[in-house]
Amino acid sequence: MVQRELSVSTRVRGEIPERTCVGCRQKGLATDLLRVVAREAESGGFVLTSDPRRRLPGRGAWLHRDPKCLSEAGRRRAFGRALRVSGSLDSSELDRLVEATELS
Ligand SMILES: [Zn+2]
Repeated sequence: MVQRELSVSTRVRGEIPERTCVGCRQKGLATDLLRVVAREAESGGFVLTSDPRRRLPGRGAWLHRDPKCLSEAGRRRAFGRALRVSGSLDSSELDRLVEATELS
């Protein structure tokens, strides 16, 4: 039956969770987005760190590997909200990563 084919493809797609990018607010597959967590810095603020294996504990934010999404997230302070941290957030690690992705 035609319907069976439809339900199979729906199920396959459903196995990959969807996440919302904190930059552009678009939904994407978790495999296409970069997980970002906040690590406490010695200075008292937080450092944004990528979590490519999606294994670090704690809250995660999701971001496209796109400089536009990164700057948009920074402008709206979306990381602080998504990760429930306040104070300074150092995004230089992510800046370098996204830049490197764009060049490759
Ligand atoms: Zn995005």
